[in-house]
Amino acid sequence: MNYETERKHLLAVLTDLKRWELLNPAGGAVSVRLPDGNILMSCTRLAFDRWDASVRDFIVLAPDGKIVEQTGGLGASGTPMHLDLYAMLPRAGAIVHAHAPYSLTFASLGLPIPSVTNRADTFGEIPCLHADDSAVKADFITDPVPLELPEGMVQRPDVAAVTLLHYRPQLKEIIAPRSEEMERHGLAFTLYRHGAFTVGRQLEETADLMLRLEESARTAVLQAAVTGGVVYPNRLYRGAERLALSDATAIPPVSSYLTDRVPT
Ligand SMILES: [Zn+2]
Repeated sequence: MNYETERKHLLAVLTDLKRWELLNPAGGAVSVRLPDGNILMSCTRLAFDRWDASVRDFIVLAPDGKIVEQTGGLGASGTPMHLDLYAMLPRAGAIVHAHAPYSLTFASLGLPIPSVTNRADTFGEIPCLHADDSAVKADFITDPVPLELPEGMVQRPDVAAVTLLHYRPQLKEIIAPRSEEMERHGLAFTLYRHGAFTVGRQLEETADLMLRLEESARTAVLQAAVTGGVVYPNRLYRGAERLALSDATAIPPVSSYLTDRVPT
């Protein structure tokens, strides 16, 4: 088995994510870019196995998704998204995808995650990419179009259709142009009604970003409970910037309310 050091490292970080209650049986995936450019990624059945993983439960993929080394299962259905992010963001060294509950709350409403803690400020925008999953899957089953799925992933073209036909263009349009931000900080986004992604330069940093993302989402939800529905990114110093959750449906998912904030 190759890449033993990197496998142990990824397993240790996966254990942290589980302990921090970010990874759960609902899903998720972690991956890291190896020094030779290949990608080491968690296998699809790990969530079902309660993330009870061993070093063999990761697959090594070439950047184009071909299998380099398979010691367990295949890559998850989100594999093309990981590969796209590594291709679009040259500084990306690791990716964490989780279905953590508070970020999922915002994602379930198609809302960007507001930055309400100083630890989340470095992210910049945290948009919500969106697709009508069930309609896309149903359309694909009735009228399939040829799709190129990476070899090293679970072969579910109906699920991959959502990623390849709907999320790939949004990654190109919304995330790829922010590549240079990765010189300074990691990036994060959510998928509508699905979960969150963080992309960082190193593995520990990327896991930490997921913790920060969830922390900010949780704090925003709790703020709304305290204030009766208003979220303040920075109440004492920029009190005019506020998000009334009752008006939340008016907020565009891919551009945070901070962009259109009331001038102070
Ligand atoms: Zn997922």
